[in-house]
Amino acid sequence: MGSLGYSVVDDSNAVDRHKELPKGHKRLGDGFDSLHLNGNVDSSPGRGRSNHFYPIDGVYPDAMPQSTAQRQSLKIAIIGGGLAGAAAAGTLSRLPDVDVKVYERSAMVREAGALIGVMVSAVRSLSRMLSPASWERLQYLLYRGDDCEGINHRHWRTGEILTNALSPHTPRHMQEGRISRIALHDLLMRDVPDNVMNYSSHVLRVEKNEPGGMKIVFEDGRFEEVDLVVAADGLYSKIRRKYLPDGKIAYRGRVSYRKNVPMDIVQHIKGLPNDTSSWRRNGEVVFLSRLEPGVYSFVTMVSEPEEYAETLEWQHSMGREGIDRLLEHFKDWDPIINEVIRALPNVDAYPLQSSPWMRDLVRDDAVAFVGDAAHPTAGAYGAGCSFAFSDVRALYLSLWRTHQSSSTSSEATTALYDVPYALRLYDETRRHFLARVEEQIKLDKLDTGYVAAAGSDEKEWIRRYRERFTINWWILEHDVDAKWQEVEAMERHKNRTQKDLVDAVNTVVGD
Ligand SMILES: Cc1cc2nc3c(=O)[nH]c(=O)nc-3n(C[C@H](O)[C@H](O)[C@H](O)COP(=O)(O)OP(=O)(O)OC[C@H]3O[C@@H](n4cnc5c(N)ncnc54)[C@H](O)[C@@H]3O)c2cc1C
Repeated sequence: MGSLGYSVVDDSNAVDRHKELPKGHKRLGDGFDSLHLNGNVDSSPGRGRSNHFYPIDGVYPDAMPQSTAQRQSLKIAIIGGGLAGAAAAGTLSRLPDVDVKVYERSAMVREAGALIGVMVSAVRSLSRMLSPASWERLQYLLYRGDDCEGINHRHWRTGEILTNALSPHTPRHMQEGRISRIALHDLLMRDVPDNVMNYSSHVLRVEKNEPGGMKIVFEDGRFEEVDLVVAADGLYSKIRRKYLPDGKIAYRGRVSYRKNVPMDIVQHIKGLPNDTSSWRRNGEVVFLSRLEPGVYSFVTMVSEPEEYAETLEWQHSMGREGIDRLLEHFKDWDPIINEVIRALPNVDAYPLQSSPWMRDLVRDDAVAFVGDAAHPTAGAYGAGCSFAFSDVRALYLSLWRTHQSSSTSSEATTALYDVPYALRLYDETRRHFLARVEEQIKLDKLDTGYVAAAGSDEKEWIRRYRERFTINWWILEHDVDAKWQEVEAMERHKNRTQKDLVDAVNTVVGD
């Protein structure tokens, strides 16, 4: 794929079906026999029991609309076409009576980024959001380890496996996996209908329209009026800055150096682990992993002084200088790390920045924030895309719940949906969980400090590491659908109980 200078095996038709696949991957179109592992019910999209009450497992109450041009529709503008924006475009386009447009400032899809962790929570959301074909392709692309599952966490110097991060009650097809950002983005884009994406569309600001909806103003002077804005414009979100002008974006003390390379570049390395491994030491971390077939990834987060980080450009290739810096930095670590670094042609630098997360993800009854625009994780828990997909799923469910059939509605456009109520459902579903995660990031720092305080006493260091290391299932396996159901069941009555219903309730016998 383009700018990375190598080719990812991403064309399903080009796969030789008789050729042995790398372990850890599934062949496209193969039966889903593995989905019955551990006695679990097959929950693959389109293969679960169809459910016309509740849109789940890829079965939607209505087919994807071919064209909404001739009908009344809710105008939705998604600002930003990264992972969150692409997921929102594919998912929200499935709602009935909507006209969805994405405005992305780049001239084309940016082929950038390295390893993305798709956590159990994300896999779950995707199983409910993707088309059956895209879900099947995700199964093919995700790397879940050869003869093992999860991520092995190793001692930073010896490489000894100290612990393994795995969800014990999750079948393999729902376990987390690793994939390149490009391949994941490409997969999401397959579900985006034609004429939805608008590139070279740099949004300068949004303004509230009276009596409702929003006006979007572009850099070139154009503007659009819409019913709902989905702000998916990432860490540096201009839309967030409009509402939170004091939210400073600050360097987090670490630079992420990353590179994806073709497998051939590293496969000669003796003792290269076949799993996904992480080596951690006092806040620094290295990941080595295969990704989709044919691709290997090196990712690290290294403490760097702010003055140095300021000299680096985000997503900037560092060439020989970067390789030498990393070799020096990791000289005392497990030697396999340096062997991989030596084999890399170059490495890209991403100084990690963040800003305070939004307390509320909605504004002006017509703006919903999703992904890094609302909660820039700066790599925490490898959960950036998991949070983004959960946002999108919650927004989809919230809008879907308030839709009224257009055949019974002869009113103005926005009467098709109750956008303010949908945004309330969305915010209530996401904001409590996200606030708790942001707090946990701070608490985890205390644990990292506790382990680091063992200093050079290696035995004590390992003891403390094992004592405090947790996988945080409540974050990585958060089920956004379950949370949304809980919220909706309450909000329905808090906000909407009609007087005549109260009388009817009095006639109900028992609990
Ligand atoms: C180039 C790149 C590489 C990345 N690499 C990795 C990686 O290797 N590993 C990892 O874990 N995470 C990576 N991330 C971060 C990861 O994508 C996010 O943490 C997460 O997945 C949520 O994505 P998002 O869509 O909210 O934000 P982003 O992926 O940052 O997408 C935001 C999008 O909005 C567009 N945009 C911004 N402002 C405007 C505007 N005013 N008008 C129109 N469009 C606008 C941007 O061009 C971008 O396409 C990367 C992000 C980017 C942009």
